[in-house]
Amino acid sequence: MKLFRKLISLEEALKIALANVKRTEREEIVFDDALNRVLAEDVCSSIDSPPFDRAAMDGYAIRGEDSFGASPNNPVFLRKRSRKGGEKEKENENVVEIREGDYLPIQTGMPLPKGSNAVVMLEYTKENGGDTLEIFKPVTPGKNVSFKGEDVKKGEGVLKEGRRLRAHDLGMLASLFKSTVKVYKRAKFGIISTGDELSDPDESFELEGEKKIADVNSYVLAALTGKIASPYRIGIVRDDYEEIKNAICLSLEKDCNGLLISGGSSVGKRDFLADAVADLGKLVFHGVAIRPGEPTGFGVVNDKPVFVLPGYPVATISAFELLVRPFLHAMHGMKEERSKIFAIASKKIPSAVGRTDFVRVKLLCTENEYYAEPIRVSGSGILSSMTKSDGFVIIEENKEGVEDGEKVEVSVWEW
Ligand code: AMP
Ligand code: MG
Repeated sequence: MKLFRKLISLEEALKIALANVKRTEREEIVFDDALNRVLAEDVCSSIDSPPFDRAAMDGYAIRGEDSFGASPNNPVFLRKRSRKGGEKEKENENVVEIREGDYLPIQTGMPLPKGSNAVVMLEYTKENGGDTLEIFKPVTPGKNVSFKGEDVKKGEGVLKEGRRLRAHDLGMLASLFKSTVKVYKRAKFGIISTGDELSDPDESFELEGEKKIADVNSYVLAALTGKIASPYRIGIVRDDYEEIKNAICLSLEKDCNGLLISGGSSVGKRDFLADAVADLGKLVFHGVAIRPGEPTGFGVVNDKPVFVLPGYPVATISAFELLVRPFLHAMHGMKEERSKIFAIASKKIPSAVGRTDFVRVKLLCTENEYYAEPIRVSGSGILSSMTKSDGFVIIEENKEGVEDGEKVEVSVWEW
């Protein structure tokens, strides 16, 4: 294998790639379509939530002070608040006012009647004949009540621009009657695998007596990309200079906003990808000091970003996490940082100064600590190093490995 004449650092590669980011436009969509979309506005509540004081338990609405001193041997007696003439049972309970010594039955979620300030739970009471109540335990005012605006106050900010919306965020939008939200449009990314040896997993594993390698990358890249952008899996292209160029041109014509192309990305005799990109547009960098993932490049064709990614699946994932993901996040206005877990390295992890390492680790959890066990493999063709791992550790360029017992930050999969 020919070697790269010069590798650039991850930091430099990121800086160059990010300088080429064009933020996607905003669009307004219905809130229930917004899962995993990135918010393009700050969301403030236009209402108090809950909108009124309500019972948090089934029981009886009372004035808390009226129950003071109650005990099993010395219960407090209250009388049922009789409704004014003409009021029907089903009418708004707020019409009725609880005065000293009154009670009214109430169910969870119902508005608290005027004058009451607490709910005494069923289990501490006995109702006699439907019009008197014995209370065996006092409740302080405010007990078992959720107050108006207790969750969110009118005008309060709840979700910030740049947040990727989760299930409970959609719940929050629903609770505030915010039926549409502004989000960043998803960019469409074409995904191509190159390689004569490749075959789609739903085709035959053996073709004309020749054993094939399954195309892994386009599926993995589509799944990774799909969390934030819109992947468009184009499939396999042969190791042929003209065919690769054609595929790039065609995909960019098919309104792709960018491309992720893997395989044939190094500087060998049968590696055409980088040259094809350079021929069609500009190859901005090629060869990054990351391991795995050295044969990674980035170019711009027709004003659109094109990532040149390694063939080995683990190397492609490494390049995605280290370079493509930050690019996609910036493009979609995502401001969230991935949360990390602090763990103790359970073994020494060697790494050379001058290169960033992407180390797959298994997390072991003891009572007090997480331990990160590096998965020892040679070669980035070992996909099981991914499936056996829980996440990864990045060993920065200027660091000469990690000592056994040293603290590391683990980024957990599924993001
Ligand atoms: P290359 O970068 O094309 O030299 O490929 C390096 C290694 O990765 C070779 O063993 C390829 O067979 C393998 N490879 C390339 N592309 C893919 C892909 N899409 N899926 C799985 N393996 C691949
Ligand atoms: Mg190849």
